[in-house]
Amino acid sequence: MNRQSTGMSAVVLVLLALGGFGFLVWSNARPAPALTVLVPTQAEPTIDANPWADILREGFGEDSTPLPTVAIPTGEFRPATLAVNSQLAISPLAPDELGDDQALQTPFALGATPTPPPPTATPLVTDLPVTAQFVTRPPQSWQPPPLIPPLSRDPLGRDHYWLMRPVDSNATNFGLFYYPYGSDGPEDAWRVHAGIDMPNPIGETVRAAGSGLVVWARDGLQTESGVFQDTFSYGNVVVIQHDFGFRGRPLYTLYAHLSRVLVLQGQYVNAGDAIGLVGNSGRTTGSHVHFEVRMGEANTVLSSDVSIPGYGATYNPILWMVPYVGTGVIAGRVTDIDDNLLMDVDVTVRDWVTNLVSDTTTTYIFQGTGVDVNADPNWQENFVVGDVPAGRYQVIANIGGERVTEIVNVLEGTTTFVEIAPGNPNAQIAAEAAP
Ligand SMILES: [Zn+2]
Repeated sequence: MNRQSTGMSAVVLVLLALGGFGFLVWSNARPAPALTVLVPTQAEPTIDANPWADILREGFGEDSTPLPTVAIPTGEFRPATLAVNSQLAISPLAPDELGDDQALQTPFALGATPTPPPPTATPLVTDLPVTAQFVTRPPQSWQPPPLIPPLSRDPLGRDHYWLMRPVDSNATNFGLFYYPYGSDGPEDAWRVHAGIDMPNPIGETVRAAGSGLVVWARDGLQTESGVFQDTFSYGNVVVIQHDFGFRGRPLYTLYAHLSRVLVLQGQYVNAGDAIGLVGNSGRTTGSHVHFEVRMGEANTVLSSDVSIPGYGATYNPILWMVPYVGTGVIAGRVTDIDDNLLMDVDVTVRDWVTNLVSDTTTTYIFQGTGVDVNADPNWQENFVVGDVPAGRYQVIANIGGERVTEIVNVLEGTTTFVEIAPGNPNAQIAAEAAP
């Protein structure tokens, strides 16, 4: 070790001493950090430590998870409340028309002989006079939930079940069978129906069938241009222009005869939002919601700032409202042998297994007035039957005295299409082969 290195060591020692002193001064001047030392206490893991373990095992275990089961309804069809003193005017096929081998059991014959409400229609009546008897509905079985819109299970993409129903599952959520879309009602006395009627007690919640903008929400009796669409028959009306369209055309839904309107014009609503309450405002003798689907250009002026598609732009709502779990829809064409659509023909749907009548309807009436009802762009049908439990059915039409039967298989959540024409010996075979 030489002299120079000894001198350097002294300098280093002095520097270290000064640094140590400085650190003590600095550390004493600053506040001491509040330091808490956490000592983790970890329990021994046991089987019972996690209460979710069992649930997870049961819920997600491949072996223990049962598949969801959908019970297909097998009960009789119950029409929307027939009072015992009312008369069914659109009768299903008479037993003698069905042949001796298969006596027709019709669940329509509920108790005493039904009678229809007296037709009191005038040319201006747009809607059916439902008698107050229809408000009281019989005990209903619980409805299954609706499938989830938008739904299109048709392999060719023809289905467009994009809307909810305007009332809840356990309300009367299907149209009165004797006044379907395109029908002129019992005894041909009413105006051709541009929508469907769901009889419900006053105050039942009416809901938006889809999301969109409320373009009309007023009392039809007190509009600035007189009355709603030149008739006060609609009463309190809500019209929604949906924020989706069909093939480039805007889509609307309409809800009429409300006792109360719960939305404002210009308001945005989501599907299922309460927009009004069922009532009997306008031209009606009983509370129900009249529901329409309109599609096309807004060519009918309601007020200085509101236009909507008019009467001539309606379509059958059954082809737009999503079916309930376990049910499907039958749509078809009843034609003559030259493929001309036949009007006002009774159509009966009968369960192939039980022989019970599931439903009846009539084919559309096209009056050539320019404001007719319309066939669906995809199906070109002239009748539709909804809420058909999945299964096999006979579809029976009386065409000029000839009984024509086709057999169809109804699948959940989709439309089964059937062509019914007379004089075709292969018709039934073709229907059997159809998907
Ligand atoms: Zn109606």
